[in-house]
Amino acid sequence: MTTTEADAVVEGLIRKFIHGSHILHYHGVVDAYGHLSFRHPLRSDIFVMAKNMPPAAISSPDDLIQYWVENAEPVEEGAPKGYVERRIHSEIYKRHHNVNAVVHAHADAVIPFTISGVPLRPCYHMAGFLGTDGPPVWDIADHYFRSDIPDMLVRHEHLGRSLAQTFDGGNVVTLMRGHGFTAISLSIEDAVFRAIYTMKNAAIQSSTLSLSAASAATSDVSPAPAIRYLSRSEAWSAAETLSGTISRPWQLWVEEVEASPLYSNAA
Ligand SMILES: [Zn+2]
Repeated sequence: MTTTEADAVVEGLIRKFIHGSHILHYHGVVDAYGHLSFRHPLRSDIFVMAKNMPPAAISSPDDLIQYWVENAEPVEEGAPKGYVERRIHSEIYKRHHNVNAVVHAHADAVIPFTISGVPLRPCYHMAGFLGTDGPPVWDIADHYFRSDIPDMLVRHEHLGRSLAQTFDGGNVVTLMRGHGFTAISLSIEDAVFRAIYTMKNAAIQSSTLSLSAASAATSDVSPAPAIRYLSRSEAWSAAETLSGTISRPWQLWVEEVEASPLYSNAA
């Protein structure tokens, strides 16, 4: 690969990253908090994310910081302040060498499934990637050191490492108690896709649980019909099929954010 070609690859990913950050905000997955990152395409020991700013406001390569995967410290001295929780990203890239993009978010719809003991399960084909057993729920309280501030944030390497271990089983989403969730993938597009449909599935499941409870309270039929989630083979097959179609929503999502005056992408 020539230097020009390498530069084009990096520039293309930066543009995609900025679009992805805007898309996550446009769809309500992130607000002023939450973040996307990607592994550097030419340097697997480096990952990239924005400086400490709302994802919607990221607009140029100047807003990005390169970090070492090893310790989540900036590659360049004098880098601006970064996100407190960047060790979520560094520890996942360190442990899972095939992961190239990570989304961390606090979407409202997901939170009930992090604190209720009700597992998040795939309600429709768009969320087959969740798997039939649902994502694990990681509880930060099990991993604090005595010296840690118990503010629920993944501030330290040992907390990020413990969270990264939850992806060892091949799942692609982990819920975080009283906090949010983290989604991983091979690509920015797919990580964003998984984050959006994790949130949508959570909203659908909450509605279904409410309806089901109302039905059980008013029905003459006993026991009330069980909620029918996707079967194991359905979830797997749907995830396989959908993974080949992500360019379609991505194209639409890019057009949506490019048409909104809130977002700017100068990359
Ligand atoms: Zn967070």
